This record gives sequence, C-alpha cells and structure tokens, in this order.
Amino acid sequence: MAIKRALISVSDKTGIVEFASGLAKLGVEIISTGGTQSLLKDKGVPVIGISEVTGFPEIMDGRVKTLHPAVHSGLLAVRDNEEHQASMKKLGLDYIDLVVVNLYPFAETIAKPNVAYEDAIENIDIGGPTMLRSAAKNHAFVSVVVDAADYAKVLEEVQETGDTTLETRKRLAAKVFRHTGSYDALIADYLSKQMGEPYPERYTVTYEKMQELRYGENPHQSAAFYRKPNAAAGNITTAEQLHGKELSFNNINDANTALQIVKEFSEPAVVAVKHMNPCGVGIGTSVLEAYQKAYAADPTSIFGGIVAANRAIDKATAQLLHEIFLEIVIAPDFTPEALDILSKKKNIRLLKVVGLDTVAGRKAEPVVTTVEGGMLVQDSDAYQLTEADLKVVSERQPTEEEMKQLLFAWKVVKHVKSNAIVLVADDMTVGVGAGQMNRVGAAKIAIEQAGDKAKGSVLSSDAFFPMGDTLEMAAKAGITAVIQPGGSIKDEESIRVANENGIAMVMTGVRHFKH
Ligand code: 5GP
Repeated sequence: MAIKRALISVSDKTGIVEFASGLAKLGVEIISTGGTQSLLKDKGVPVIGISEVTGFPEIMDGRVKTLHPAVHSGLLAVRDNEEHQASMKKLGLDYIDLVVVNLYPFAETIAKPNVAYEDAIENIDIGGPTMLRSAAKNHAFVSVVVDAADYAKVLEEVQETGDTTLETRKRLAAKVFRHTGSYDALIADYLSKQMGEPYPERYTVTYEKMQELRYGENPHQSAAFYRKPNAAAGNITTAEQLHGKELSFNNINDANTALQIVKEFSEPAVVAVKHMNPCGVGIGTSVLEAYQKAYAADPTSIFGGIVAANRAIDKATAQLLHEIFLEIVIAPDFTPEALDILSKKKNIRLLKVVGLDTVAGRKAEPVVTTVEGGMLVQDSDAYQLTEADLKVVSERQPTEEEMKQLLFAWKVVKHVKSNAIVLVADDMTVGVGAGQMNRVGAAKIAIEQAGDKAKGSVLSSDAFFPMGDTLEMAAKAGITAVIQPGGSIKDEESIRVANENGIAMVMTGVRHFKH
C-alpha cells in the first residue's frame, strides 16, 4: 500500500501548507474543500477541488461539501475485498488513503462571551467528523490526521516508505475517536445547559489535557492537569505564568482554593492558603494593607504558602512578599517594579489571572467528586448571603463594626474544611480551626491560635452548634459576636449562653459544609 490520494479539509490551517506541499512533492494527489483549497492554491500546492471528485457543488454555505458517496466509498472500501473493489471499479470511484481534517471551532466559539445560539449551532461540524470516523474505522488501510502535532511524523513515514505503519494508523484512529467523542460531548453539554439540564442521564463533559504533572499529591502518584474546553476567564486555567518553575499538583489545587476565596471580595483582599485551607485573609483600603493583615493573621503558617490578591501587586507589597518563602503569588497584575522584585526569587511562581471576577452573581456550576466505581456531581456552593437571610437571635444587636466583621468571617468560613470555625478581628482572620471531627474541637484550635487576639473578635461557624459548649468557650475567650446557620434542636442552648454573656448572635439559615 502507498498513500496516493489525500483529502485535506481543515478549519485550523496551522502547518497545513508545509504538510500538504511535503505530500505533493512525494507525488500524493491532494483533494480539498473551499477555504483549504484556496489557501493551498495560493501557496502553489497542486490541489483538486472536492467538487471534481463528487461531481456535486459545495452547497448550503459549506454545510454539504464532502458528504458524498464518492468520498465515503473511497474512505470505507476494504482494499483487499474483491466485492468492494468491484463496486469501486463499476462506479468509477477512487480510493482516498489519507484524511486530514480538523473541525469547526465549536469550543472556541462557545468560549466567546455572549455567543449567539445560532453561531454556536453553525459551528457544529458535520462533514468533518463523518470523514474522520469513516477513515478511522478503516484504519487498516487509511491514515487519518486530526491533530497538527502529527503532521511531521506522518510526513516522515510517507517520505521513508510511501505509507504509514499500521501502528501509527491505529494510534491516529484512536485519537480521532477521542477527538470526535469530546467534540460531541461538548455540543451535548452546551445544548443541555441551554435547556437547563445540568445533569443529563449520561454525564458527558470532557476535558482537554493541558499538561502532565511531575506527580500528584505525593511523588509516587502520577498526575495531569485537564482543562474544561470552555473554561471561563478568571480561573487557574486562564492564568498566565509570568515567572517560576512549572506548577505542581498541590500548587494548582491550593492556588484554586486561594482564588475562590479572594473572589469573595470586591474591596482589596489578600488570601494566604496552606494545604487547601486559608491560613490568613486580610482586607483593607489597599493591596498592601490587605497583605499586611493576611500576614499578621498567622505569620507562621504563611511560610511556604500561596498568596492570592484581587488587586495588582505593587512595589511596596512585593517588597514584603519578597521577605518570606512563598510557593505562588496570584494576582490580576504585577507592576513592573513588583515583577522585578519578585522575579529575583528563583523558586516563586507568579501567576497573572486574566479577567479576575468576583463570585457575586455567579451561577452554580456542576462539581465532581469521584468515589470508587463512580462519581458524585453537585452544584458548586455559589450561595450569596442577602440582608434578608440575616436574623439576629440574641438580645443584643451586633454593632455596625461587628456586623462588618461577621460578614467577612462568613465569607471565609465557607472555604474552610468542615468542621470549620473562623475568628476575625480588625479586618483579618485571627484564628482558623479547620477539618475537625467535632465543632468544639475546631473552635478550640481557632481560639488557641488567636491567643490574645481572640478577645474582642467575632466568630463564624460553617454549620450550626449542636450544643451550647462552643458558645461557652467563645464567651470565655472574650468573643463578642457570632454568625452561624442555626437550625439545631439545641439552638436555644447556644442563644441562652450568648445572652448570658452579652454576645450578639446572627443566624443565616444557610450551611456551608466543605469536605
Ligand atoms: P474549508 O475551510 O476547507 O472550506 O472548510 C474546512 C472545514 O469544513 C473543516 O473543519 C471540515 O471538517 C469541514 N467540512 C468538510 N466537509 C464538510 C461537510 O460536508 N459539511 C460540513 N458541515 N463541514 C464540512
């Protein structure tokens, strides 16, 4: 076998001229469709229009170009089957030995902000996947290239032997079905979402592999990073790395946590994260002030941590960041002086997040947790507290300042692993109790960590108090106000302890477990 005839029809024309002219030089006859044909012709590559092969014009704005028996017989014929050979001969058809197709850019189209439905539909490729599938099914005889990264290897093999190896064709065919499978999955996902069906019977969203990671959480675990093809701006997959080593598995996970927290705030805010929990969060009138608070919150834990800011890092902040060891700094921008200062550190990674948004008004997205033999899918925790949710249940009303600190504490506790207790004073977290198996244990850790700062601070709890013991501990530590969902059968016990100690208590009616 040898590759004598190739059909090339590509939307993304990167590298196609070099590949096609390489094939043409080896005597391969090239057939092509509208846009691809004009490009090749312009570049002096000999090319035959698809209409000459089909005897049928390209019609309906390109909707029907290659969908023709002359194409699909040429692709699907089993070359050593006498009956197939006879049919080809009788109908005057020719074999097609190589197909080069990449599809209408559906993913790129729907990633555009406010894309029109009609535009998305028009970008569903029909003829392309059909050719890819015909060629891939018949990979015993036909080579099929869907990825420009394979042009060089295929050309090299054809240069050497006139054909590709069976092993290469099998690999290319598998890649085709991975590609058409995820292409269709993305269309299904888009259309389902339009109809408000986030959880179809078959969960089909597929992800693109962005990079192999050196390892997972531990060196003996292999790992990779995948991106949702239509990922929105303002997340880790749309961040640009300005400096530093490749991100690790733990880096990406922690950076994501830090980003989710910093997005809670519209005022300047800085978040430090360690092991998927915030260790320091500060807000202020500037990024510098916010960082100083996030640092002062817990100067021990921030070491080796990940810092995210929702404002550009300026020179003064960079000078402070430079003083300690940090894995990553994430921000919407860095001033040139800040970049200069931080880039002097070899080991720090600097990430610039494009289009950093806030969570306000954001719709919930499905999030997946895998379990043995399957997965759990749920809405992301996108609940935003409103004034109407807040109910003061204590005798004493919180002061305006206490209310401000309580709402800040509430935004943070939502992102701390359950059971979670967060203490806040003076626009910064002063104690974080994370991931404990009982609530009073989490409170104990937060209060201990706050030390002197516990007195006069406010406390948030991600879920209700099953009994009055946490409030008793809070009262002893000098905490003045508490925010919690409420809903325990023993709410009265906590309210009584609050009232006995002059603590103001606000209930939200919303729980924020995070495991
Ligand atoms: P061109 O730029 O060459 O005019 O178009 C290339 C694109 O058309 C490729 O993405 C290819 O998958 C797609 N294509 C080829 N044949 C057909 C067809 O019959 N119908 C549709 N809808 N798309 C096709």
